Parts: sequence; C-alpha cells; structure tokens
Amino acid sequence: MAADSPARSVPFFNYQQAFTMHEEEYVRIFRGVMRRGAFIMQQDLQEFEASVAAYLGVGHGIGVGNATDALEILMAAKGIGPGDEVIFPSHTMVASPGSVVAIGATPVPVDCGPDHLMDPAAIEPAITARTKAILPVHLNGRTCDMDRIQAISNKHGLMIVEDSAQGLGSRYKGRFAGTFGVGGVFSFYPAKILGCMGDGGMIVTDDADLAKLCFSLRDHGRGETTDAERWGRNSRLDNLQAAFLAWQFGHYQGIIDRRRALASLYQERLGDLAEVTLPPAPDSDPDHYDTFQNYEIEAEQRDDLREFLRAEGVGTLIQWGGKAVHQFASLGFQVSLPNTERLFERCLMLPMNITLSDDDVDYVADRVRRFYGR
Ligand SMILES: *Cc1c(COP(=O)(O)O)cnc(C)c1O
Repeated sequence: MAADSPARSVPFFNYQQAFTMHEEEYVRIFRGVMRRGAFIMQQDLQEFEASVAAYLGVGHGIGVGNATDALEILMAAKGIGPGDEVIFPSHTMVASPGSVVAIGATPVPVDCGPDHLMDPAAIEPAITARTKAILPVHLNGRTCDMDRIQAISNKHGLMIVEDSAQGLGSRYKGRFAGTFGVGGVFSFYPAKILGCMGDGGMIVTDDADLAKLCFSLRDHGRGETTDAERWGRNSRLDNLQAAFLAWQFGHYQGIIDRRRALASLYQERLGDLAEVTLPPAPDSDPDHYDTFQNYEIEAEQRDDLREFLRAEGVGTLIQWGGKAVHQFASLGFQVSLPNTERLFERCLMLPMNITLSDDDVDYVADRVRRFYGR
C-alpha cells in the first residue's frame, strides 16, 4: 500500500451495518414471524436448536436468553452449587465466573498460556477437595488444548463445562468446541460471530436427561405438560431472534471462511513485524481450526499504538475493558497470575468482522506498520 494511503474510518464493530448489510432479509423474517404471532417457543426456535445440534453432531440444543444464563442453567442442572469450586481462566468475560457465583459456587481463577487460553498446566495446582468442575473458555474462536484438559478431568473425576460463547464452529482435532464436556454454551450477542439483534444463547449437550432438565429449567421448571416439576426460571431464546439466527446460520461456513481470510490477510501484512505477536494463522496448526471471533494480538507500546490507531480512524478494543477477572479489585480475588497480567499489558484486538473489506485490513495493517516506522 502506498505510504500516503488516504485516511478511512474502520470502526471496531459496526452494529448498524450488521443489520443494513442484510436489511431486506431481516425485514422479511421480521414480518413473517410477526404475522404468524410466533413469539415464544415456536417452530423457528425448535428448528434453530435442531440445526445447531446437527451441525455440532450433538443430540440437543436448548435456546436460552444469553450465554450467562446458559452456564448457570447447565451447571445448576449438573448439581453444582454451594460448597463447590469451579476452575476458570482469569482471561475471560466476568460472565464465566459470574455464572458460578450466581449458583452459589466458588470460581477459582487460573493463568493463561501463550495462546491466551486457559493453561492446562495451571489447573492441577488449583484443584482442592471441593473442586467440582473445570470451565475452559474457548476464547477468540480458538478451542483450548482439550486433550490435556480432558486428561486432568479424567484423572481427578471433574466435570468439564465449556464456555464456548466465542467458539461456535471452532474445532480441536476435528471436534467442535462445546462438545467435549458434559455440555457447552454459546452466545448470540450481536458482536459474536453468530449474533442476533439483542441477547441470545444456547446450551448444547449429548445427554438426553440433562437436555430435558435444561429445557425445563429455562421455562419455569415446567415439564412436557404445563405442570411445574421443579423450581425453574424464565430464560427462553426469543422465537424472533431464533428466526434471524437460523437464517444467518444457513450460510455460517461462509462467515467463518471470510473471517479466516481476513486473518490470513493480517498475517500477510503484519507477520514480519517483530513488535507484534499475531494469533496463529489459519491452518498453521493441524490440531486447531480457528474461527477468529476476535483478532487478539500482542503489541509493544500497546497503549501508544492504540492511541495512534484511534487518531487514524481505526477502532481497537482491549478485551473486558483491559482487566482480567482477578484484577477487578472489588471481586476480592487475592491471587497473582503473572502470564495473564503480562498479557493484559500487551493485548489488543484489531477490527475483525464480516463488514470489513480487504482494503480496510490493508489500511489497518498499514497504520500499524507506520506506528512502528516500518
Ligand atoms: C460474550 C461472552 C459471554 C457472555 O455471553 P452473553 O450471551 O452476553 O451472556 C460469556 N463468556 C465469554 C467468553 C463471552 O465472550
């Protein structure tokens, strides 16, 4: 790209464009659902649940209000509660441990590895007599090293509950994120790879009894009749949102392909810079199939780079407002997790979404190079 490439604006995420790029389809779907009066737990939801389950090769998908509820319902259904500990990586959204606290259990944070994901080597030292489950988080569209995590879970008899909020379609050794443990959860928050026009989430599991319990818990504890069989709550995925999601899901592979192409473009344009560490390029590791929910780099002089990019019209983000969970003083964690803390001095997410053009990525990369005088 020429050194005088003209300024442009590349927002981190373009919420309006996520709608306008398919406006006619969404309006058509909206009209269809409204005219049928199909608002709560209708055919669109059932079809969407079935198509996600079929895609992942699991028996059941249970649409819920959001991924945080999904974690709460899933863990409560597995009997996790007061007195139990759940090990989670501190580099995650506060929702992951928040769901543990919401069911009365205790979240135990551990460090991350060079891949920004839960470090399997950090799990065993955190296990106590109270540990009930491991909660790996498949961040940035990359699946954790599940061989090592499963070996630990088998050895100690611990459940695996997967926070795959950022991992729909991501695979490890050919197997989808969310399908390794007793169950997994997905988020359809607008900025997630498969995002709706509000909140949405899903639990997936291969266990028919567990699925039945989750279906009941999300709908006031009701069973197949309208009798309440237990105490439950209301956390149903809106039928309208399910209809929007089902349409997008129909071309989901194209969405993943585009994100992987954008990641390859960043790699091509920035791969030689010593000042930045990029996520592994698509296909660089045969064990991982990454979907690039985010493009999280590590950068020298991160804060100055971020300010430079902002002035050049490029939106970036530091995940979770710049702090890992254990760094929120008010939450009372008394631990030091050196890899995570170092990562949070260096990590930065560059724009990564399907509203980006190749020229947008070229522009962002050009400005990053310029900042480092390259
Ligand atoms: C987005 C996200 C969540 C929460 O999802 P909601 O649907 O907003 O509840 C949980 N964990 C991770 C890792 C996330 O990125």
